Amino acid sequence: MADTKWVYGFDEVSAAEEAVGSWDAVRGLLGGKGANLGEMTRLGIPVPPGFTVTTEACLAYLEAGEQFPPGSWEQVEEQLARVESTTGKRFGDPENPLLVSCRSGAKFSMPGMMDTVLNIGLNDEVAGGMTALTGDERFVYDSYRRLIQMFGSVVLGHHDDDFEVVLERHRHRAGVTSDSELSVEDLKEIVEEFKRIATRFPSDPKEQLRLAAEAVFKSWNGKRAIDYRNAAGIAHDLGTAVNIQTMVFGNTGNDSGTGVAMSRNATTGENKIEGDYLTNAQGEDVVAGIRATKPIDQLADEMPEMYRQFAETAHRLEQHYREMQDMEFTIERGKLWLLQTRDGKRTAQAAVRIAVDLADEGLIDRREAVMRVTPDQVDFFLHPQFGAESKQAAVKLAVGLNVSPGAAVGVIAFDADLAEKWAKEDGKRVIMVRPETKPDDVHGMLAAEGILTSRGGRTSHAALVARQFGKPAVVGVAALEIDMQGRTMQVAGEQVNEGDWISIDGTTGDVYLGKLDTVVPDIEDPWLMKLLGWADELRRLAVRANADYPVDAERARTYGAQGIGLTRTEHMFFETERLPIVQKMIMTTSATERREALDALLPYQREDFRGLFRAMHGLPVIIRLIDPPLHEFLPAHDDLTRALADNKIRLRSASSLAEIDGLLEQIERDEQVLARVEALHEANPMLGTRGVRLGIMLPDLTKMQVRAIFEAACEVAKEGLEVLPEIMIPLTSHVNELKRQREVLEAEAKAVMTEKGIEIAYLFGTMIEIPRAALTADEVAEYAEFFSFGTNDLTQTTFGVSRDDAEAGFLISYLQEGILDENPFATLDEHGVGKLMRIAVEAGRNTRPGLEVGICGEHGGDPKSIELCHRLGLDYVSCSPFRVPIARLAAAQAAVRFDG
Ligand code: PEP
Ligand code: MG
Repeated sequence: MADTKWVYGFDEVSAAEEAVGSWDAVRGLLGGKGANLGEMTRLGIPVPPGFTVTTEACLAYLEAGEQFPPGSWEQVEEQLARVESTTGKRFGDPENPLLVSCRSGAKFSMPGMMDTVLNIGLNDEVAGGMTALTGDERFVYDSYRRLIQMFGSVVLGHHDDDFEVVLERHRHRAGVTSDSELSVEDLKEIVEEFKRIATRFPSDPKEQLRLAAEAVFKSWNGKRAIDYRNAAGIAHDLGTAVNIQTMVFGNTGNDSGTGVAMSRNATTGENKIEGDYLTNAQGEDVVAGIRATKPIDQLADEMPEMYRQFAETAHRLEQHYREMQDMEFTIERGKLWLLQTRDGKRTAQAAVRIAVDLADEGLIDRREAVMRVTPDQVDFFLHPQFGAESKQAAVKLAVGLNVSPGAAVGVIAFDADLAEKWAKEDGKRVIMVRPETKPDDVHGMLAAEGILTSRGGRTSHAALVARQFGKPAVVGVAALEIDMQGRTMQVAGEQVNEGDWISIDGTTGDVYLGKLDTVVPDIEDPWLMKLLGWADELRRLAVRANADYPVDAERARTYGAQGIGLTRTEHMFFETERLPIVQKMIMTTSATERREALDALLPYQREDFRGLFRAMHGLPVIIRLIDPPLHEFLPAHDDLTRALADNKIRLRSASSLAEIDGLLEQIERDEQVLARVEALHEANPMLGTRGVRLGIMLPDLTKMQVRAIFEAACEVAKEGLEVLPEIMIPLTSHVNELKRQREVLEAEAKAVMTEKGIEIAYLFGTMIEIPRAALTADEVAEYAEFFSFGTNDLTQTTFGVSRDDAEAGFLISYLQEGILDENPFATLDEHGVGKLMRIAVEAGRNTRPGLEVGICGEHGGDPKSIELCHRLGLDYVSCSPFRVPIARLAAAQAAVRFDG
């Protein structure tokens, strides 16, 4: 411990790399910001000299009960001395003072932590000395008041508003609107007033530095930081580094300035520098959105040489990091300094476009491009947007900056706590509306559907956080006059109150009154198409869709589905004209009447299948025969008894013979249905007469379905289209069930093909959704040419948990208490359900090499489950049409991860 190196100069990054081995470990040790400041220094990019106190020092400090580890503070002083000799200035020396900034910097960027204190090293004497040195008293006192203000709020925990009130009073008195117009006298008074607020502000520069560094360390365990890490999935044992860096000043006149910019557009991904800057200002002015910033393009006119140098540096950094960069810079009297660079946060659209462009530019290869986009980002393309009609009819209140795309609708909450409460406890959809957001608003932002602010730019806190979490956001809507006390806002002549509905469009920046309808966009983004095309080249799993209707099948095909993995035929039974026929089929005890009902259903089913085969011509279509228990097609028991009771009461007061006749008829019909419902009643119908058991009990029913499938297939084949039907039996638990059904059904299929005079190639297979079927898969495969894991049922039967009830009940507590890590109905339970799947795949393929195996439960669209399916050697995953693009990407990423 005694010879541990706790502090690294920015010019010592190579030593750090040597000590810890890899760049990733350097980022772990020095934090992202510190590592990049070191890297920029190594590249010869102008970075103000400074040093980083390591994350190890932070962890040791916290572990020792908030004590610097032995020797570490001495190392800080040594590094400070090095900076003094490089800059020729001295910390705390009024003659030629060195001022420094102190910033937190964890391995992963965390807006939940203490961020920055600028101008450390100023006190009354130093301010006096600096005035003499620079001759710019205004600049000195402006810097001084900023130090006390930042130190007061971020280190000493005062409310920022306490300082803002003072500034506001002075602005008002002086009749000016911005702080930069305040006079020296005003600023001097403000400094004194600030000191009376921040009474514990130390005048000793070393003490300022020590307290600021300690505040950074402590902020790692602050509630905001913990909440943020929980939400972003960042480990809690990493610690944060502290970066201490020579101050350079953007507020020394009109040849100075400061800004934040991305090397590409973070919203669209366009390869064009995007950002904001301010002349004669210090860094936090830009980020806080207090002054109206200028777009970076304007710098090219205002300071062309500075713009050229910045653009060149941005390009160099991009080439070096092979990634879009988010940079902070300061121009001090015509000299450009880089204060930070990091991989830029971006919208989903930008993530896709940047990954594809970087690959096209040769900076990364296609595999890397595919790995850089997350399945969630692809999901964004399928997110709701406002419908054109709904937009036309709506009242547009204002337009702001479109910083995080997507449509969001909700009731207004003016603070983060209320937003969180309404969303979590009351189940409301909320739009969080604020003048601007700060790190302690993050919990409200996460709970909200969308974020709206009246101030701030593209790089403001609200914009960054919203983009990272994919929340639609509109910021900088100057037209909003928010009255926090009155919990109301004025905009476009309307008064809108907390709790009122608004709709925001993060794609366009529009803000609407009321609740707009949303629609899901078509994915036509050319970069996404290209990326998914690359993913298709990498993946081994095919992707099919679960679709019941031709329109779904068509959509699935446009999204890239390679077939249908599940058609739930019973969904077709519920349509209005068909349900009475289905009910008749269930009610009757006469074989003839049943036959008639089935004959009447056949043309409907044939038509459905014809549509599906046409839409999916050339691709396999799995059609699953009827699955649910029959009582689901009859009215509910409670409804029937209620209707009977009502009609019996009505009968007593009936006034005409016709009415009595009508009621009697109805009562008789209902009594018959009730008797049948009661006869079909099962205590647990999900484990009762359903699936293949229905086909065994009522073979005519599944025969009718098979006939409809083959009649449709023969007709479509005669049209010249290729049809590839796969007949799937649900809920098999014993091979004999399959054997019995297969005999009956194949005979029917052959009969149809003979009648039609055409042969159709088809497969006959089963779902695996009962543990017994998985365990005896070697036997089952004798009669099945394919398996499809119905993991909804397989999860329910493996856990012995009802899929319909669990998620509303104890499962939530299990997840909260950590008994289960993940909801097994969302992500496959690898150790249980996954083990059964592995057994089934192996045993099935032992019996029948080349057995086609897929999955059609909800897990087929879940990236983590898709990865397991890849490892289990499945042939395909099948999911809802809207998840097909996500599955294509997830399957490619699994292939890259596991097959190299
Ligand atoms: C399943 O059980 O996973 C399945 C796909 O079938 P269903 O959801 O229709 O029971
Ligand atoms: Mg099922």
